Amino acid sequence: METIQLYKQDAYHKTFKATVLQCEKEKEYYQIVLDQTAFFPEGGGQYGDRGFLDEVIVFDTQIKDGVVYHKTKEPIEEGREVIGTIDWERRYCFMQNHSAEHMMSGFVHRHYGYQNVGFHLGEEEMTMDFDGILTMEQLLTLEKEVNEAIWENREVIVSYPTKEELETIEYRSKKEIEGDMRIVTIDGVDCCACCAPHVQKTGEIGLAKVISVQKNKTGVRVTMLAGRWALQDYGKKQEEVHEISKMLSAKVGEVAKTVAKLKEEKEKLEYELVALRLQMIQQKAEQTPIVDGIACMETEGLSGKEVREVCNCLMEKAEIGVVLNRKEKDEEEFQYSIGSKEQDVRKISILLKEQLSGRGGGQPKMIQGTAVGTKEQVEKVLMDWREQRDD
Ligand SMILES: [Zn+2]
Repeated sequence: METIQLYKQDAYHKTFKATVLQCEKEKEYYQIVLDQTAFFPEGGGQYGDRGFLDEVIVFDTQIKDGVVYHKTKEPIEEGREVIGTIDWERRYCFMQNHSAEHMMSGFVHRHYGYQNVGFHLGEEEMTMDFDGILTMEQLLTLEKEVNEAIWENREVIVSYPTKEELETIEYRSKKEIEGDMRIVTIDGVDCCACCAPHVQKTGEIGLAKVISVQKNKTGVRVTMLAGRWALQDYGKKQEEVHEISKMLSAKVGEVAKTVAKLKEEKEKLEYELVALRLQMIQQKAEQTPIVDGIACMETEGLSGKEVREVCNCLMEKAEIGVVLNRKEKDEEEFQYSIGSKEQDVRKISILLKEQLSGRGGGQPKMIQGTAVGTKEQVEKVLMDWREQRDD
């Protein structure tokens, strides 16, 4: 027997009396069937209601073949009369957002001819998919229109037209429902087939705000918040802005300008820092002693570019310039850059590979790579290279 669905005629049924017709165990939970219910079962992109049957928590509501199943963790005996109470705050948010969605979809259809091809009402967010492209600018114009209509407190009417009457009505979402067609009309805004509970007057929505838009395969996905969710979002964002404004010691309306200025200053400082570091390591390179024509310098934490720069400095003053750069002082692995203005140094990388687990290579005048060992071990590799070269 199909459950009498009270929300279909009156979305404002918060509590109701009902008789338990069936209580079945299903895995870890129970599915309770009542003779009538105000719980909205999941459908059309909206989650099922939560609430209580007497003191028993209902954590989800589903429908199959017209029978509504209330999911609980405890059983309730069949035949018992219960008081059903739905989680009204959550449900009312769904109603505010669902009605706002119809309004936005109605205006999108009117101005652009696009259909709403996907709708999801999550726990604190609503998304709509349209089969055409909309920019944020266009959406903000639509948002204005939606809010004007909200404040005009227009009526939301639920009706069940006959087949003949239906043929004379222009409405969206023609394939949504089987059986009795339920039409939700928002006066002067939209007409759409829908099974869900809606607010009675648009003024109850209070506010609708477009949050984001992104392209997807069919067109765009729009995220919008209405009613309490919009207010909560406003609160969160205000808190964020206040935090940032405190940290920046800037007025709330001027945080973006202040951040842009800070970013600019940071870039300037970074640029200066890079120049100073380079100057410092160049000075260090100049002080590096030359032993047997080799200037070998050990460094830490330099960037690849800096390692090359230092090597160039060393090559200016010695026959062979060598830089051994470690991420940290006591690390065994190092990054090397070895260069010479006169010699072909490529064979050194082969010796480093053989003797110090080296990797890398390069041009005749400069090689780069990584290897493992001490400065003394590298100096020995260079001696070997010289001997081989002079043989
Ligand atoms: Zn709907």
